Amino acid sequence: MRITFDEQGLHVPEHPDIALIAGDGIGPDVSSTGCAVIDAAVKQAYGGTRAIAWVPVLAGEAAFAKTGEWLPKKSLDLLRACRVGIKGPLTTPIGGGIRSLNVTIRQELDLYACVRPVKWYSGIPAPVKEPEKLDVVIFRENTEDVYAGIEWKAGSKEADKVITLLNSISTGTSHPLLSGQTGIGIKPISEEATKRIVRAAISYALQQGRRKVTIVHKGNIMKFTEGAFRDWAYEVAAEFPQVVIEGKQGAAEGSSTDRRGKPAQPLLVNDRIADAMFQQLLLRPDEYDVIVTSNLNGDYLSDACAAQVGGLGVAPGANINYERGLAVFEATHGTAPKYADLDKVNPGSFILSGVMMLEHLGWQEAAELIVHGLTRAIANKNVTYDLARQMDGATEVSCSGFGREIIRLMGSR
Ligand code: NAP
Repeated sequence: MRITFDEQGLHVPEHPDIALIAGDGIGPDVSSTGCAVIDAAVKQAYGGTRAIAWVPVLAGEAAFAKTGEWLPKKSLDLLRACRVGIKGPLTTPIGGGIRSLNVTIRQELDLYACVRPVKWYSGIPAPVKEPEKLDVVIFRENTEDVYAGIEWKAGSKEADKVITLLNSISTGTSHPLLSGQTGIGIKPISEEATKRIVRAAISYALQQGRRKVTIVHKGNIMKFTEGAFRDWAYEVAAEFPQVVIEGKQGAAEGSSTDRRGKPAQPLLVNDRIADAMFQQLLLRPDEYDVIVTSNLNGDYLSDACAAQVGGLGVAPGANINYERGLAVFEATHGTAPKYADLDKVNPGSFILSGVMMLEHLGWQEAAELIVHGLTRAIANKNVTYDLARQMDGATEVSCSGFGREIIRLMGSR
């Protein structure tokens, strides 16, 4: 049955249709293992009263082979109709006018919030001494900034036109004139897009009982894009009575409750310049909690944070439009074609994206079972090759074997 959405939020039936894009390369391996783990957790949590009805959606190489299109309109329609989906990685087609299938899905469905939780799972080899100190959720704006795709090659007719225009505007100002052989890219940052991602981050922080939201920007240099992002973000923060802005007097009063029913604590909002933030996350990781930032900063920060906890292979992600109730959860790694169909790679990123999806559906009990099983499997050192090669005394298991291990351990004490 279809999930529905209205002003009260998502309405999830006992057997919801969930769109499934298996993905290319290692996608079918991680998604079949991941779906088996999710199904087992739902069955165990709800004794068979609930189950996911997977709706296969064609995209990527499988779609191209069958229809001649990388992302058929029918697939986008199915994603919209199901409202919630999960995907494995997709190949970025070379040529053919599509820059990236992932970017196309985000743009077509206006999935403006890229949400990346990053925390350490006990036992995962990490390059820092205290990886457990990092536990952040990054909200990355997903639709604009330099990812808007507005750019022209050096020497092209379009670049020449833009350069001529910019040079005419620059006359009499301190801006240097641009030379002819200059590539041009545009960095749009709008009030509307900034405010909706910041609103999403603050609402999430309040619901989850988090203590701080940090706005990350490079406003000291890019005043009218990144600086405006910071200013608009603070305007949104001021809309929330529970928010205290760092450095400002006065405690916030809040009568609302978090999702566990506890009275909501005041939420601190502050900002950091992006370069300082990279240092801070390494030196004082436990001072940060929810992070909200523009597209490019968010791209760099989420991978840097994931690497810091040794989690690049297991980092989950979600792309969400909160106003339309649309969400696509995704493994964050690529298609790693050399490992395709070998049943070898780590399915952790797809599985933890599935955990985020179950939480989004309100099926918390099933989500917790999976996290428990995964944590135990790692602690027992029964892991896929990528973790086994970094852990002393580990036993290497296959992709599906790791999934079976998680299922075996999910109900264990
Ligand atoms: P990649 O597919 O992520 O693979 C790079 C390396 O990362 C692999 O060779 C492997 O390292 C490791 N790796 C990736 N996933 C793993 C997993 N699940 N378990 C264990 N190790 C894993 O990156 P790429 O080679 O740059 O990209 C290949 C294709 O994927 C491109 O077409 C790219 O556009 C696409 N892509 C798609 C997405 C997406 O759909 N979200 C994201 C990124 C890239 P070792 O060789 O060291 O074992």
